[in-house]
Amino acid sequence: MDTVVDRLIRYAKVYSESDYHAGRTVTPSTDRQFDMAKLLVEELHGLGIENARYDDKCYVYATLDATPGCEQLPAIGLIAHMDTTPDMTGKDVKPQIIHYTGGDVVLNREQNIVMEAAQFPELQKFVGQELVCTDGTTLLGADDKAGIAIILQAVEELLAEKAPHGKICLGFTPDEEIGMGASFFDVSGFGADFAYTLDGGDITDYEYETFNAAKTVVTINGFSIHPGTSKDKMRNALLIAMEYNALLPALETPAHTEGYEGFFHLQEMHGKAEKATMEYIVRDHDMKRFQERKAMMDKAAEQINRRWGDGTAVVDTHDQYYNMYEVLKDHMEILELAESAMKAAGIEHPTHSPIRGGTDGSVLTYKGLLCPNLPSAGHNAHGRYEYAPVESLKTGVKTVKALVSPELVETIIGKKEG
Ligand SMILES: [Zn+2]
Repeated sequence: MDTVVDRLIRYAKVYSESDYHAGRTVTPSTDRQFDMAKLLVEELHGLGIENARYDDKCYVYATLDATPGCEQLPAIGLIAHMDTTPDMTGKDVKPQIIHYTGGDVVLNREQNIVMEAAQFPELQKFVGQELVCTDGTTLLGADDKAGIAIILQAVEELLAEKAPHGKICLGFTPDEEIGMGASFFDVSGFGADFAYTLDGGDITDYEYETFNAAKTVVTINGFSIHPGTSKDKMRNALLIAMEYNALLPALETPAHTEGYEGFFHLQEMHGKAEKATMEYIVRDHDMKRFQERKAMMDKAAEQINRRWGDGTAVVDTHDQYYNMYEVLKDHMEILELAESAMKAAGIEHPTHSPIRGGTDGSVLTYKGLLCPNLPSAGHNAHGRYEYAPVESLKTGVKTVKALVSPELVETIIGKKEG
């Protein structure tokens, strides 16, 4: 039998980075994500799950029928994403297992790449444990291949143990990291009554509050003319772009906020004197404040246009996802099941914290598939210091197995009628 660690290492080596600039209409954003889809479908077939398949948009689906006597239990979905973030290269990932004895972790002696304990104090929790790490030159991709590894390992073990369970629906998605992971998810074909993404950090912490999220592109139309003869004529789009940004609250950026504090994040800026564009993401857990933030960006454009003429600043905003708690608060039993499964897996005090981001589950919840997030044991996502503790990965497998155990599901959720 495989182990969850073997799986994580195997999946981490598959280059499946997504790409911000492929355009909104193309899914998947990179063809290489099909390499993960094909591998997972092959492995699911190998486990005897013949219905496993991927579609032309690179979504993988598979279903385990309920075992005899468990047909009336609700169908539970398990979802993870196959892509890794474009923010740090995920090519040629060379995972290594390091026995952590405390202090700094030398990831790469040759290149002197060290994960410093002072910078990552939570390492302290894992003294004496094995960590799956990178060689310091790439990300690990535990976000979210640890989630995939945990799900598939749990499935393999359930099948091997002939454990009873209700219907289980598996979904693996592309392009989560560019905010498109759930865009083409086939909710009705998936067939789950509710679901969980496994796409998070510390194995003791689950999540059901996400940001409300929008992307705003601000275009500044300037007027370029030879600098030698441009007095009272040139309108330098680059300078006006800086003016625009200065109208937004300077302390409401990712670098100055935490917890439930929202922000404006200038993600990219391009341009010349003639024309400049700025790409922002806007985030807030609170729906009212989220709307106010978007309105503030429009107001800033109005102000620029008063100064420089109509049409100088053009704002194009589209919402990306919403805080799933707005919907989940009426279905607290789904969160209770998550917490009980974590306790059954040996986590004494499961916690939940507001996620400062979104998940596939945010979008799916608004498409009608309630979908909070379970932890998947990855730490320091999106960078070279990403790691996953082996013990935590194993706890993740136990959590998933408990989550679908008939006793727990029937006690907390109940059986379906009819
Ligand atoms: Zn993720």
